[in-house]
Amino acid sequence: MRFDILTLFPGIFDSPLRESLLKKAIDRGIIDVNFHNIRDYAGGRHRITDDTPFGGGGGMVMKVEPVARALDALDAVDGLSTTILLSPQGTPFTQKRAEELARHTRIVLVCGRYEGVDERIRRHLIDSEISIGDFVLSGGELPALIVIDAVSRLVPGYVGNSDSVETDSFTTGLLEGPHYTRPREFRGWMVPGVLLSGHEKRITEWRHRESLRRTVTRRPDLLERASLSDDDRALLRAIMAEEAEHTA
Ligand code: SAH
Repeated sequence: MRFDILTLFPGIFDSPLRESLLKKAIDRGIIDVNFHNIRDYAGGRHRITDDTPFGGGGGMVMKVEPVARALDALDAVDGLSTTILLSPQGTPFTQKRAEELARHTRIVLVCGRYEGVDERIRRHLIDSEISIGDFVLSGGELPALIVIDAVSRLVPGYVGNSDSVETDSFTTGLLEGPHYTRPREFRGWMVPGVLLSGHEKRITEWRHRESLRRTVTRRPDLLERASLSDDDRALLRAIMAEEAEHTA
């Protein structure tokens, strides 16, 4: 998987890509991240990349020409590549979108700054826009890192144990259940006995039930889209009765 990042501040990406799994994936050639400083494509002695908005108003707008030239300079962008603008006005980023993106071989990410980018960039130069949530950040660099992280985890070979990706929250349409590790007891806080039982089937059932419990108590909205069996529905009714009893 190849990522091309168009940014005015490539330094922001330094340390996140030099730690832990992302670093390993880059070292092992599973992902390849390339930076293109938009300023290098700006014309004139001052290499200006932003300007005041037509029609007045505050703030600065990123100019269209440097971004267009930076995109032109990317060699042979083929059918398996996609160009994305990070924007608070984009489609909300989800695990499903990350899965779709992981099917590309190359993802070009355009990071905005200031008041955002000249509208002609979004209209003519990109394929889609992604928002990482309903809040406004000062630039598209952190959102781009979030997209890189979420998509890279899905590239084969990125996570050692691919099982852990398959059971992740959202992948199944549900939130993942709780995890425990050693010690079995800490300050009197016990690990649920079933996890220590060595009984694989009971453990799997418990995990599924707790995953349903998490989802119905924290994110009931997810259940509307999750594919649930009749057994799941019966379990959910039982869980809801249990929860109602606890809060009563
Ligand atoms: N004036 C714009 C916001 C600009 S924020 C508006 O009201 O819509 C500056 C840049 O930060 C944007 O161009 C975008 O690249 C990035 N950004 C800010 N919030 C974001 C979000 N929630 N998701 C993705 N990118 C975001």
